[in-house]
Amino acid sequence: MEPLLGNTSESTIDNLQSTMNLMRQITEIAECREAVRSFQRRGQSVGLVLTMGALHAGHLSLIADARKRCDEVAVTIFVNPTQFGPKEDFSKYPRPLENDLKLCREAGAAIVFTPDVGTMYATDAAATLHVGVIGERLCGAYRPGHFDGVATVVCKLFNILPADAAFFGEKDYQQLTVIRRIVRDLNIPIEIVGCPTIREPDGLAMSSRNVYLSETERLQATSLSRALFAARAAVAAGEKDASSIVDQIRRTILDAGPASVDYIEVVDPDSLASLNWMHGRARICLAVRIGATRLIDNVEFQSQED
Ligand code: AMP
Repeated sequence: MEPLLGNTSESTIDNLQSTMNLMRQITEIAECREAVRSFQRRGQSVGLVLTMGALHAGHLSLIADARKRCDEVAVTIFVNPTQFGPKEDFSKYPRPLENDLKLCREAGAAIVFTPDVGTMYATDAAATLHVGVIGERLCGAYRPGHFDGVATVVCKLFNILPADAAFFGEKDYQQLTVIRRIVRDLNIPIEIVGCPTIREPDGLAMSSRNVYLSETERLQATSLSRALFAARAAVAAGEKDASSIVDQIRRTILDAGPASVDYIEVVDPDSLASLNWMHGRARICLAVRIGATRLIDNVEFQSQED
């Protein structure tokens, strides 16, 4: 007897897959590109969610948003070495692949691309993207080369998965801004959709790195969102001086316990240029180290026009 799918053509497998809501894990570039294109040839739009795995409700909210906006969803799980500094946590970054695949399946993803480093980067790979000043401020000042690494891998993934739209979290606000910029500047034909930050019930922004926090540090980490929300309320009540907002946030965070503040900055939401005075829309971004863990968070501010 012939095996069940022995002589079955690829398009029949695709049809079967979508009818039965099967998820395909793909590790090869050509196969992944073809899987996205075959959906599109059938008139189905594809939404893309790029991740480094260790999935949590923040990632799943991106998949849910992508499912609302697109017919099919492709997820990537790849811990990208070129965006980690030499002293950063690349080797200890959590990689619970089997559980991640289960979560993707339950969330309704059609494709999960899980390449290894050798598939993504030739040993003599040399061409990279450089994003300029927008990647050198805020986190970029503390993580030299990080946003060039992010821009390069995101651009590669857009080429491997030529989706219609890609969904990114506002949690990584500078990353979202950098990606909008490369898509604009390099005319990449994909729509970028920013999605709201998902938080724990006590306000801490969800992050794959939260697992590094000890119990005491985890409690202390709630000071970041508490400080940002209090500052937002102060702005809504009329505070306009950025340095006094920053001081107030710093005090709240340092009162909660020992922490090292990389930066707290009020910025223009599009250019990320520093602002001294609040008028209209602004973003407050911060990065704080609690113990060995570096946490980032940000919120949007809206003050009355002068
Ligand atoms: P990562 O796996 O940390 O590289 O994140 C993959 C994607 O998930 C990025 O677009 C992040 O901005 C997004 N993301 C991470 N944490 C959250 C969160 N708490 N809420 C919403 N999106 C998030």
